[in-house]
Amino acid sequence: MAKITAFRVGHCTHPSCMALKGSGLHSLCFPSRAYLIDTRNGLYLWDTGYADHFRQATAGGLNRLYAWVTPVSFEPRESLRGQLKDYGVDPDDIHTLLLSHFHADHIAGMRDFPRARLMCSQSGWDAVRRLSGVAALRQAFVPQLLPPDVEARMAFVESCPATALPAQLQPFTAGRDVSGCGEIFVVDLPGHARGHIGAFVRGERGWTLLASDAAWQAQSYQELRGPSELSFVIQHRRASYYETLRKLHALHLGGQAQIRLTHEGAADTVPLAAP
Ligand SMILES: [Zn+2]
Repeated sequence: MAKITAFRVGHCTHPSCMALKGSGLHSLCFPSRAYLIDTRNGLYLWDTGYADHFRQATAGGLNRLYAWVTPVSFEPRESLRGQLKDYGVDPDDIHTLLLSHFHADHIAGMRDFPRARLMCSQSGWDAVRRLSGVAALRQAFVPQLLPPDVEARMAFVESCPATALPAQLQPFTAGRDVSGCGEIFVVDLPGHARGHIGAFVRGERGWTLLASDAAWQAQSYQELRGPSELSFVIQHRRASYYETLRKLHALHLGGQAQIRLTHEGAADTVPLAAP
């Protein structure tokens, strides 16, 4: 059985209503998380959160706009490498870095894991791999965050065959076992970004769906309450976003899996030291 540990790795601030329609204009801190998944077949990471590379990559040129539109807070002590070491894990022992999508707040730490295999959806990678300048910025993609050998280390979830998921996880019916031991099943969660994926993880206490940015707040799938319409300027497709949100809502009502979002737990202030 796999074990999941969450790490808060920096945060950004947005008006509350961007994440949850009608929740007001006050500014909230949205933590970025990386999830360590300890499986029988090795250590996996689900996304990286922010990293110092983000500050460097957005310090000049067009990318400055990204940092201007999305105020980001990241302290050196929040470094994921450092947090993993404190937790007793050698960051170079990470077997696979799974990337839910290529928004900068999910991939900023890629360069900190030079030994890990990289894995994402082929459609997600194809959507960004050749982007630069304004086209990249519009997809919240910062190409400078990619390690130089990204192509050589990249594997695609589509290379793992889709298999049936247990009936208790309906309305999700099929997933791709990227762990090879039945502990991590990747599923498509379309709408937020092209090729956006989530993962069902089988743990001691049952199933957890790492749902990435399929919603930004738990209330969103609990109450079927979407984000601001304005957010769809940067999200991929409104219709599929709501289709995915309805599936999360049904999964939540079924009560057979926990749902974890990358940015859940937004608050007026996020403590520097995560509990
Ligand atoms: Zn995103």
